[in-house]
Parts: sequence; C-alpha cells; structure tokens
Amino acid sequence: LDADEWQADGQAHIGDPRRLRHLCEVHRANPGDELTLGRLGGGIGRGRLAHLDAAGAWFECDALDQPPPPALDIELILALPRPRMLARSLEHVTALGVKRITLLHTRRVEKSYWQSPELHPDKIHQHLLLGLEQARDTVLPEVRLATRFKPFVEDCLADDIAGRRALLAHPGMPAACPRGLEEPATLLVGPEGGFIPYEVEQLLAAGCEGIHLGPRILRVETAVVALLARLG
Ligand code: SAM
Repeated sequence: LDADEWQADGQAHIGDPRRLRHLCEVHRANPGDELTLGRLGGGIGRGRLAHLDAAGAWFECDALDQPPPPALDIELILALPRPRMLARSLEHVTALGVKRITLLHTRRVEKSYWQSPELHPDKIHQHLLLGLEQARDTVLPEVRLATRFKPFVEDCLADDIAGRRALLAHPGMPAACPRGLEEPATLLVGPEGGFIPYEVEQLLAAGCEGIHLGPRILRVETAVVALLARLG
C-alpha cells in the first residue's frame, strides 16, 4: 500500500487499475479474503478485503507491525540494458533485497535506451513495486542514473566502494565468483555487448575485483541473479 492508499482507522483503498488487475488476476482475491498487506516504507500485516468492484478495493487492516525482511547492503551497478531487460532486472533485484541500484552508461549501451519510457521515474517505481510485492518487502531501493562512465568512475566509484568488496562480473576473468559472498558489497554487471577492455581496465584500477560466473555467457538479468545467488 502506498501512503495515499492508506486511510485512518485501519482502512485502505486501492484504485489504481494495474494494482486492481494484479489483485484480481494474480491473487484472485474475492471479498472476505484475508491478504498479507505491506505499507510502503513500513510494516507488514493482515487485511480483509471488504469490498471489490471496478472502482477499487477496500480493505480493513490489522496493525501492519511486522517488519519487512532486512535490507541487503548490496549495491548493484548495472550498465543500462535494453528497456525490457531493465524492467525484469529491476524487478528481480528488488525482490532479492538490493537497496541501491546505479544504472550506468558504458560504450556498448545504446544511447537511445536513455530516452526509453521505462526510465521514467513512474515506470521505475512500478518495476520496483512489483519486486517488493513479490518479496513481501516494503522498502524501495534507491535508483541512481550515472549517464557518463568516466566521471562516475573517477569521481564516485572509489567513495562508493570504500570498505566494501566490489565484484566486476566479466566473462573470462581468471577468478571465479566467490560463494557465500558477504555484505557490504558492490556488484557490477555489463551491458548486453559487455564492457569494453578500456572500461574493464578502469574499473579494476578503481579497486574492483574481476570475477567470472562460469564458462557460459549469461544474459544481463541472469548474470544479476546469479551474482546475488552467491550471497551467503
Ligand atoms: N559478449 C559479452 C562479453 O563477452 O562481455 C557478453 C555480455 S553478457 C550478455 C552481459 C553481462 O553479463 C556481462 O558484461 C557480464 O557483466 C555479465 N556476464 C554474463 N556472463 C558472464 C560470465 N560467464 N561471467 C561473468 N560475467 C558474466
């Protein structure tokens, strides 16, 4: 539940058509059903669907006082992938608990991707919400855009990764990705065409460790999930 869906005295109302569709088609909810509800940025609890029609869903909620799952101190730095892949990647990493995502420009990122409607803050918000709903989490990740590679690496990266392990996923690196990876960590994943050698050089020089994820070349969204699956 977003803040504006929450009303005083334990009542909540969902009017957004996408969320209503999700409620009816995915959860197959009917009046009288008990559902798990989360309040964005807050707790989780139970609610009863009191009324449902085309105009909205009305809930009577218990105290939403259970905390969401703990946030992971993992930052993902992801070269901006094509829009459909971006949507799925954002949803997956949010569901897996990542709380900071940087979308980075690299040489092999299509410039047109930066104009994609998927990058509109409302669209990003929607993808993050889908991930949160899936995972029964309520804390939105922070999403940053880094539209220039060199200034980002020169001015921000060293501070970002100070005191953290920073793993650069790149096929053919000699070291395998460690298992049981611990927080805090920063994970870097390249675009569909991969990082160019200059970028790998710069990222390694800035303090990242190059790792491989096995002999297979994975799609961006698969590489992201494979990395997060190594967390201990
Ligand atoms: N031809 C590109 C290359 O050789 O880098 C493939 C890019 S892959 C589709 C997209 C991104 O996923 C890569 O830049 C890397 O970050 C990650 N990735 C995919 N497979 C990987 C692997 N086996 N080991 C490490 N990283 C991988």
